Amino acid sequence: MPVRTAGAWFPPCPSGAGTIHLVSKDPTGGRLAPFATTIFSEMTALAVATGSINLGQGFPDADGPVEIADAAIAAIRAGENQYPPGPGVPALRQSIAAHQRGYYGLDYDADCEVLVTTGATEGIAAALIGLCEPGDEVVMFEPFYDSYAASAAMAGARAKMVTLEAPDWGWDLAALEAAITPRTRVLLLNSPHNPTGKVFSLEELAAIARLCVERDLVALTDEVYEHLVYDGVHVPLATLEGMRERTVSISSAGKTFSFTGWKIGWACGPSALVSKVRAAKQFLTFATGTPFQHAIAVGLDAGERLIEPLRRSLRDRRDLLCDGLCALGLETFRPAATYFVTTDVASLGHTDAVEFCRTLPSRCGVVAVPSSVFYLDPAPGRSLVRWAFCKRPAVLVTALERLEALRPVGAQ
Ligand code: PMP
Ligand code: GLN
Repeated sequence: MPVRTAGAWFPPCPSGAGTIHLVSKDPTGGRLAPFATTIFSEMTALAVATGSINLGQGFPDADGPVEIADAAIAAIRAGENQYPPGPGVPALRQSIAAHQRGYYGLDYDADCEVLVTTGATEGIAAALIGLCEPGDEVVMFEPFYDSYAASAAMAGARAKMVTLEAPDWGWDLAALEAAITPRTRVLLLNSPHNPTGKVFSLEELAAIARLCVERDLVALTDEVYEHLVYDGVHVPLATLEGMRERTVSISSAGKTFSFTGWKIGWACGPSALVSKVRAAKQFLTFATGTPFQHAIAVGLDAGERLIEPLRRSLRDRRDLLCDGLCALGLETFRPAATYFVTTDVASLGHTDAVEFCRTLPSRCGVVAVPSSVFYLDPAPGRSLVRWAFCKRPAVLVTALERLEALRPVGAQ
């Protein structure tokens, strides 16, 4: 079955073909003005326009397990095509509850503590809209996944950052303590972390949990890469003492099963918090694609049998791309998880990641993402570039061959 390129139906505006705006600003203003176009749409449009290999937007270029695809087709043929219950079909909510119990020992009532969302993106937006009042603050780590600041803005809340520092992506506890004020309502934690690939350690999680309890914060965790961990272990924040009752955990089937276009995500937490997420969700989308929910229930029930082969193959692809980037002379921060690797292009003499990524298609026929867009103040990420390795090995090999053009003249 041919694999379509994500974004191929979303061509760049003819007048702007091939130009990167890099998160265009809407000149007409408003609170969403800084978020006019996501970096991922821009970079995929650029890859399509220039015929480049897309190591920018994180989506696999091969489909997930056939038995999950077949389950979606069977659900469609069985007539599962009308609105499902708003909170999600019971079979999927039960599979999610069983997944949380089986992997992490977390018990959730499938009826009132589990909510199916249209991807993690909607789960995060609905959580921030449902949990924050205008003027509240949301503390998070930067670089951050791009939807967080936009979703906080939609909720009328203010995003406050604590910076993860390369090369180990460590952070300063005093900075986190200082970022939390009486207006802080939510601490948003993404582990495993996009774009760095960091898996927060138990020690780091314990410090975060202690602050959430002491300062009476709700924790919102984005765990979409929970199953794509190669070094270390993913520990959900909700499993730490005092955290289950104050945590909304978000995840998604897109990464785990390589069906990013199906947009099946979920939120788990105590009913008092999940009911607020549900209140927002029911007026954002009301409900989420019925046949895909049935199919993802099949995937979750199969568990490691379907998940482990993808994890193993992604670990190999991580090593392939990291070794190749490193051999080009790029400072490469090998990720412990996710399907992204960050490099510092200053090691090849490029000080501006935006400029580097803007010219990369014409120089090499490859697209990557400037990590500076994942910071509120781009300074710490000025020369950092993110590359996705969720592509077929042959595609990564070709990309690396093309990137040879980056090698300084005279270098071997
Ligand atoms: N959070 C992170 C950290 C991500 O990388 C992504 C990208 N998929 C999402 C959320 C969005 O997930 P979904 O496609 O399920 O909305
Ligand atoms: N999560 C994917 C990434 O980081 C992109 C998702 C999207 O395009 N919104 O590349």
